[in-house]
Amino acid sequence: MPADVVAIAQSLLRCPSVTPAEGGALAYVAEVLSRAGFTVERPVFSEPGHADVENLYARIGSGGPHLVFAGHTDVVPPGDESRWTYPPFGGALADGVLYGRGAVDMKGAVACALAAALDHLAANGGRPKGTLSFLLTGDEEGVAVNGTVKLLKWAAERGETFDHCILGEPTNPDALGDMIKIGRRGSQNGTLVVTGTPGHVAYPHLADNPVRHVVRMIAALLAEPLDAGTDHFDPSNLEFTSIDVGNKTVNVIPAEARARFNIRFNDLHTQATLRDLIETRATAAAQGARFRVDWEPSNADAFLTAPGPFVTLVGDAITSVTGRAAKLSTSGGTSDARFIKNYCPVVEFGLVNASMHGIDERVPVADLLALTAVYREIFSRYFG
Ligand SMILES: [Zn+2]
Repeated sequence: MPADVVAIAQSLLRCPSVTPAEGGALAYVAEVLSRAGFTVERPVFSEPGHADVENLYARIGSGGPHLVFAGHTDVVPPGDESRWTYPPFGGALADGVLYGRGAVDMKGAVACALAAALDHLAANGGRPKGTLSFLLTGDEEGVAVNGTVKLLKWAAERGETFDHCILGEPTNPDALGDMIKIGRRGSQNGTLVVTGTPGHVAYPHLADNPVRHVVRMIAALLAEPLDAGTDHFDPSNLEFTSIDVGNKTVNVIPAEARARFNIRFNDLHTQATLRDLIETRATAAAQGARFRVDWEPSNADAFLTAPGPFVTLVGDAITSVTGRAAKLSTSGGTSDARFIKNYCPVVEFGLVNASMHGIDERVPVADLLALTAVYREIFSRYFG
C-alpha cells in the first residue's frame, strides 16, 4: 500500500512552524524517516542577533549515486487568520483540496518526497541502490542565516558528497508538470549617489544641481539593455526602485540625489563584471558630475544547471506522470538552489505556485498524488 501523502501533509500543516519556529514539523519528519530506516540528525545553528534554528539531515543507503532532496518546513506568517476559509494550521481537507499555510510552499512537496521515499524503499527491500538523503531547513522564509548555507557546510564537513539535488520549491505557474527550474538569475542591489553643489534656485549658475545629473544618468542606464539574454535566460533587467532627494524646501538646489535600483542578471555576468558595466556606463552619462555607486553585498549569483542526463531524467519522469513536457526555466526570484549549486547540480520541481504566501494557501489532493508519483518515478529511474 502506498504511503498516505495526504495524512503526512496534514501532519506537517498542523505544525505552526512560522520562521524561525520549528513547530514540531522537523520532529515529525524525523519520526517518519527514522521509522523507515534513515539515520536522522537535527543540527541547530546559531548566529549572534538571530534566533537559533533547527534543521534536519537524514540519509539512507551507502555509496553512489547520492540524490538529495532539499527543502524547508518553515512557513511565512498566515496574515489575518479571520480571512482564511479554514484555519491556516488546521490541515483541513474539503472537496479534495487541502488547506493550510505551507500547502504549496513547501510542506506539500516535502510530504510528497517523504511518501515517495517510503514507497521507493518499500518496493526495493528497504534500501536505495545508492544513497538517498533529505536536507531540510527551518530557515528559508526569513533572513535565512541559519539554514541551507550552514546545513550544506555542516554536511560537507562530515564528508557528505551529493551527486544531484531536487529542490521541492513550487515551480509550476498553472498545472503540475508545467515547469522545471534549472537555474536562477542573480540579484544585486545598488544606490547611485550623485553629489552636486547646493545653492539658491534663482542663481542656478552658482550651484550644480544633482537632480539634473541623476535624471540624465538614470535615463542613460535604462536606455541600453544589459544584454540580449541567452538560450536559457531572459535579458538581465535593471529596475530603479526609488529616487530620493528629501528636499523640504522649494528654493534650494539640493546637495545630493540618490537612486536605488535592483538588477536581476543572467549568467552572462558575475557580480564583478556587472558592477564594472554599470559604473562604466554611469561614468559616461555623468558628463563629469561627481557620483558613486554604493553596492550592497549579495549572495545571489546567477547559475544554470546545464541540460543533460539528470535534467532529462527529471523531465521524463514528469512527462510519464503528467503527460506534460515541462519547460526548462530560470525565471522568478532567488531560491536556496543558489547555495546548493556550489555542491552539486540542482533542479527545482514542486507544486503549483499560484496560492503560495496567500490567504487560503491550498493544494488539490490530485496534485499531491501526482507529485508523489513524479518523485517516486525520479527515485526509481535514478536508482534504477
Ligand atoms: Zn519555499
